[in-house]
Amino acid sequence: MANAFDVVVIGAGPGGYVAAIRAAQNGLKTALVERDKKLGGTCLLRGCIPTKALLHSASLMDSLAKAGDFGVNVPGFALEMEKVIKRKERVVAKLTGGVAGLMKKYGVTVFKGHGRLAGKGRVTVDGETKETLEARHVIVATGSEVKNLPFATPDHKKILTSDSMLEVTAVPKSLVVLGAGAVGMEFASIFKSFGSAVTLVEMMPHLLPLEDEDVSKEIEKAYRRRKIEFLVGAKVQKVESTEAGVKVSVGVGEGVQVLEAEALLVAVGRKAVIEDVGLDTVGVKVERGLIPVDGLMRTNVENVWAIGDLVPTLALAHVASHEGIVAADAIAGKNPTPINYDRAPSATYTSPEVASVGLTEKKARERGHEIKVGTMPFAAIAKATIAGENEGFVKIIADKKYDEILGVHIIGAHATELIAEACAALELEATAEELATTIHAHPTLSEAVGEAAHGVLGHTINF
Ligand code: FAD
Repeated sequence: MANAFDVVVIGAGPGGYVAAIRAAQNGLKTALVERDKKLGGTCLLRGCIPTKALLHSASLMDSLAKAGDFGVNVPGFALEMEKVIKRKERVVAKLTGGVAGLMKKYGVTVFKGHGRLAGKGRVTVDGETKETLEARHVIVATGSEVKNLPFATPDHKKILTSDSMLEVTAVPKSLVVLGAGAVGMEFASIFKSFGSAVTLVEMMPHLLPLEDEDVSKEIEKAYRRRKIEFLVGAKVQKVESTEAGVKVSVGVGEGVQVLEAEALLVAVGRKAVIEDVGLDTVGVKVERGLIPVDGLMRTNVENVWAIGDLVPTLALAHVASHEGIVAADAIAGKNPTPINYDRAPSATYTSPEVASVGLTEKKARERGHEIKVGTMPFAAIAKATIAGENEGFVKIIADKKYDEILGVHIIGAHATELIAEACAALELEATAEELATTIHAHPTLSEAVGEAAHGVLGHTINF
């Protein structure tokens, strides 16, 4: 039957499209259903890629602002926001076209339209045409969408979401950002570099509250230096639209602070897209708005799998993709290894960058480890001085008895690239000694990783 498949994947984000490629590579007849005009999901169209395209322009602005220190005079440079947005669109278009090309290359049949489970082994597609697909296995990969606050309904002019913020063609003079997780922090950093006066509001006691506390404190120092204002332990009580923009009342301690700005970005998290996917037609369990799965991404219903932002694991693109690979390999009977989420890196593309893998100091202690810690500041690394990027450090946490590396936390220039070595070290269950004896090229920023490992052993060389 033409519309009978071994695997039907619903949703073409980094979870779904990667699962589809892997399923096809495994020799399974595969279909991918996507309701958006383009393939790539949140990550490619409204997340990872467009934000990093804006960020690249923002960091060019920062570099040009200090180019004089390096003996390079660039008089009269200026931001052309419309061009920034157009370039971002070109980057997104190129990459989404790439995903479509990959589907052709691997022989995945793409159906455009809204996909729904419709009873056991069946998926309907509601698009320009209506289709019913027979599916031996279904992978639900419908991802997540912006979560709004009931008292701050986005109008996408003064009250914006991470989606509408990507389309802003005039930089607001002042911007309040609610939420200091990765998304809020990235936009705060980008728009500060573009010239906005930015204030962040975070309910938890620190910016980037999920990172190691030393990292959070360091980014707070860096933001103070950059004159990005922030309120922590702060709860928004009221948001009012005014003639000039927005008025945000924030409870801090016993008092209330009123912030006025031209625009407000609400970046308080995401919610899983699980409604109208037909989960109830087969009885897929949902708990606290997410689909519980086992280590191979199986739901409670046989032959229905779930991956990405709608399962209770880290909501990150690379995690979604790996979950897709695990699900597709499990369907093909390859007996894949379940993901160890302690080895999945987190990355925040601010200035300076933040990246981490493994346990924070607090979590390591909570899990009963006795630990040793080594830290190396970039200020003592030659390459950082050459580039004028002295902020931040590498911090390594290792088990005291076995010397196994438990966590690596990096804040500083190119942290999101440097973390790859730490991921490999954790995956290989390396010890601090093994990392310290690994030879790092000189002069590179990666020397800070080697030096922090020396620090764990009690003897950094250049600090
Ligand atoms: P999604 O990417 O959300 O894709 C789901 C797809 O399913 C969508 O295309 C949707 O249209 C489709 N869909 C939904 N319902 C249906 C249906 N019924 N029928 C058919 N199709 C349907 N992560 C990182 O790792 N690095 C980053 O730098 C990063 N930056 C981010 C920046 C922002 C502003 C945001 C919002 C997120 C960012 N993320 C980042 C998170 C990342 O985008 C997500 O973790 C990732 O996209 C999740 O992938 P997914 O495949 O689970 O879902």
